Amino acid sequence: MPIFKITYSGRFKRATLYNYGCNLNCAWCSYRLKGDAQPEKFLSPDRIREVLQRLDVQRVHFVGGEPTSCPDLPEIAEFAHDVLGAFTKIGHSTGFNMPPEHIDAVSISIKTLSDGIHKKYTGVSNVRVLENFEAMHRKGLTVDASSVLIPGLVDKNDIEQIARFIADIDPEIPYHVIGYVPVPGAPWRRPTSKEVKEAEGLARRHLGYVTSSCLTVEDFLYSQVRDVRYKSIRVA
Ligand code: SF4
Repeated sequence: MPIFKITYSGRFKRATLYNYGCNLNCAWCSYRLKGDAQPEKFLSPDRIREVLQRLDVQRVHFVGGEPTSCPDLPEIAEFAHDVLGAFTKIGHSTGFNMPPEHIDAVSISIKTLSDGIHKKYTGVSNVRVLENFEAMHRKGLTVDASSVLIPGLVDKNDIEQIARFIADIDPEIPYHVIGYVPVPGAPWRRPTSKEVKEAEGLARRHLGYVTSSCLTVEDFLYSQVRDVRYKSIRVA
């Protein structure tokens, strides 16, 4: 039962379920900024169903950590999709596992095309991630992707390579370039807005829908208060 929290946005009629734990161990993981202590309590599938049932939901999102590592995901996704009629999305996935049935959309984080860097800084190979990304698209899931621009590790040319990889699958897949937000114990600096925009520009050479963000640590920590897209209330 690794789902430990549910929030709700009335504006978007969206419930978001938070899963604890991840199957990667990225050196730049922004969860290090929020503290990654194991929650004291988890929510049972019955409790999750009960909470979702009383909300007016059109969308149910699963975020992490890595939602596909949650053993309850298949039955909760089925309930949200088939009983509530909601659009179901995994809002952050490593792509290491294929999502279960009843998931409509997945947002995959593609770290780098370099398997050596991937293994060194996340603990696993990227081969399965890249194969799964393509397989999800082929299966008809709505996929989008994001990558973190990390000066000195994943630079603008790496971002362009990733964009080219995505474009070879489908140039209409949306892609988001995220400026690295420095975390304790990691050696990299935050990119400038100009560097993020340059990387975005290179990705645009290959893809039709490219966006970017360049948050400060503060922006990141308070995004649920400052950004209307993430404003929500905790319901469980
Ligand atoms: S995949 Fe995401 S949540 Fe998991 S360790 Fe990496 S950055 Fe953190």
